[in-house]
Amino acid sequence: MKIRLELQDLAHYPFLKEAQEVIASRGLSLATITRTPESRLYLQAAIERIREAALYKKGQTWMDSEDPFLDIISYGLARVLVSCIHNRSANGSLARYEAERALYFLQAIEENENIRRHIFRELDMPLSGKEMSFVRYIEITQTLREESFRLVNRDLIHGMVTLSGEEENLLLRERIRILLLEQLPLDLPETICETFSESISEVQKIFAERTVEEYGEVEESRFPPCIQSLYDAAVSGKYLTHSGRFALTTFLHTIGMETTGIIGIFSQGSDFNIDVTSYQVNHIISQGNDGYTTPSCATMMTHGICFGKNAKCKLISHPLSYYRKEKKGSSKTVKKPSGDEIHKGM
Ligand code: SF4
Repeated sequence: MKIRLELQDLAHYPFLKEAQEVIASRGLSLATITRTPESRLYLQAAIERIREAALYKKGQTWMDSEDPFLDIISYGLARVLVSCIHNRSANGSLARYEAERALYFLQAIEENENIRRHIFRELDMPLSGKEMSFVRYIEITQTLREESFRLVNRDLIHGMVTLSGEEENLLLRERIRILLLEQLPLDLPETICETFSESISEVQKIFAERTVEEYGEVEESRFPPCIQSLYDAAVSGKYLTHSGRFALTTFLHTIGMETTGIIGIFSQGSDFNIDVTSYQVNHIISQGNDGYTTPSCATMMTHGICFGKNAKCKLISHPLSYYRKEKKGSSKTVKKPSGDEIHKGM
C-alpha cells in the first residue's frame, strides 16, 4: 500500500527517497544552494548535525524541529560536508548518528504501523512480524557485536530466525547505519567541496577537537610496544615493510598527529623521497575510498609486526585500545611531537 508521508515524518527519516524529492521539488541542488538566501542557515544546521554526530552519546534524545525542511536539508548537506573531509571515522559517526536518530523516532513516537512498514520496505528489510530467513538475518547482523544476535544464540525454526519487535527495530537501525556508511563518502566533484570550503574547515575542526578529546596530546611513552618499535625503526632510518608503514601511519593519524609530523618520521630512510612519502601517507590517511584503519592485534600478528608483546597486551585486542588504556592511566601532559622535534632527535 502506497502511503503519503508528511514533511515531519520525512524529517524523522530523511534518508527516504521522498525526503530527497522534497529538496528537489523546491528547486534546490548542490549547484544552486549557495545562491539561495537561506544557504547560510542550511549549512549551519548541517554543521550542527555533524557536531551532534561527533559528540553523540548513547541515550541521546531528539525533538521535532520547528522547521522540518531544515532537518531534511541539513541531513543532505551534512553528508556532503563529511564526504569532503575524507575521514573514515567521521563517516562512521554520521552513519551511526543517523541510524540512532531514526530508531529513536521509530520507538519514541511509536510510529504508526503503516509508516513503520513503509520504512522497512524502502530499506529492503523483511517485516514478517516475528521471524526472518536465516540467510537475510546473517547478512544484516554480520556487523553487530552483541552476543545475543549471534546465530548460535537464536531460535532457528525451518530456516527462520525468531525475532521480537524490539529486535526487528535494532536490525533496522543496523541496516540504516550500514546503508548510509556504504554511501559515504559521496562521489562529489572537487568543485563542490571548494564551494563549501568555509563550512568544511569547521567540520574538520570538529573532528580534530574530538580526536584531541579522545586521545589527548600525542604521548610516545604510551605507545603499545609494536608501534613503539615501528616508530623507533622509522625515526632511525631503518627499513619498514609496507604493513609496518601502514600500521604506524594509520595509528599516528588516528591519535591526532599531523600529516607533516608523520612524513617527518619517515624522512631518515635512505630511500626517502618527500613526494613519494607524502603521496603514500596521504593515500593511507585520506585518499582511500573510505579511508583505512589501524590493524587489529590479530592482523598485526599475521603480518609479523606484533613486536614486544607484553602483559598489558593480554587485556586488549587492538593497539589503539592499548594506547587509550595507557592514556587513561596517565595524568601527565607531554608535549606533542612535531616533525621538527623528530628531526632534532635523530
Ligand atoms: S598484542 Fe597488539 S598491542 Fe600488543 S604488541 Fe602485539 S599488536 Fe601491539
